[in-house]
Amino acid sequence: LNKKHEKIALSPLQSTRMEEMERIVLTKDLYYAIERNELYLEYQPQHHIDTNKVIGFEALIRWKHPILGEIPPAKFVPLAEKTGLIIRIGNWVLKTACEELKRLHTAGYTWLRMGVNLSASQLKQPDFAAQIKNILSDLEIWPSKVDIEITESMMIEVERVLPVLQELHEYGVSISLDDFGTGYSSLGYLTKFPINQIKIDQSFIQRIGHLEDEMVIKTIIAMAQILHLNVIAEGVETEEQLTFLQQEQCNEVQGYLYSKPIPAAQLLNYMD
Ligand code: C2E
Ligand code: CA
Ligand code: CA
Ligand code: CA
Repeated sequence: LNKKHEKIALSPLQSTRMEEMERIVLTKDLYYAIERNELYLEYQPQHHIDTNKVIGFEALIRWKHPILGEIPPAKFVPLAEKTGLIIRIGNWVLKTACEELKRLHTAGYTWLRMGVNLSASQLKQPDFAAQIKNILSDLEIWPSKVDIEITESMMIEVERVLPVLQELHEYGVSISLDDFGTGYSSLGYLTKFPINQIKIDQSFIQRIGHLEDEMVIKTIIAMAQILHLNVIAEGVETEEQLTFLQQEQCNEVQGYLYSKPIPAAQLLNYMD
């Protein structure tokens, strides 16, 4: 029995090879995932912190692999980025999320906003702003109802990214800085780039109760107020966290305390 067990245990080198093989297989399968309808979106509600009203949803990509089952985005999005597949996948996400938003608007929930996560390679396309504009004008969606979520690391390539963001900003698209506080947070970014909203990273929210992390959150919110930026907290799981964020006058919240990401088919139900 012992010997058998020894055989199964993988050496560090072997497990690295396994991971490498898994990456290769997943990358190949991902190539066909769109046309085989294996990708889909879930939507996590975002609530106004005081009135509780639903102000919008964040679209989050999902992949149901035919054999391996659900693969988390943290696993396949980086692969898609490495291979360039993220461009096609990102376009699909954008279009699908906007179509869903249009359905919600048509059903009467005209104030709702849709958050869409972008990757660096999408933003670096010179015609990216034009692509979004096309989707929004085709669907007749008010640009301010679409909120693109970018991260600080994407802003490093200022010359390529800034003109795209400026064009989108002028068109009226809302821009959020995602995972705020985790990157190479530079205050310069906040004033140089046309940002509308900051999303406080969930790692800070999960450590509410610890003085240092509460100080960070307070500082982020104070700074956002000075710069007239909207603040949303993500990963809110407990009443204690919510109470703290209410006291500190955070504007919006998103997290399991309200709802996990939900399938498209349940969106109207959630609004009722
Ligand atoms: P993110 O943009 O920071 O998204 C927030 C993640 O936190 C989501 O994980 C969400 O399901 C999860 N979450 C929400 N509320 C809670 C909570 O209360 N507690 C905890 N523990 N987690 C919560 P998910 O869906 O697995 O996505 C992971 C990451 O994958 C995203 O992080 C984003 O960076 C990336 N991603 C997801 N969809 C897309 C997409 O369409 N395009 C791109 N480029 N990236 C995406
Ligand atoms: Ca996000
Ligand atoms: Ca985030
Ligand atoms: Ca993240």
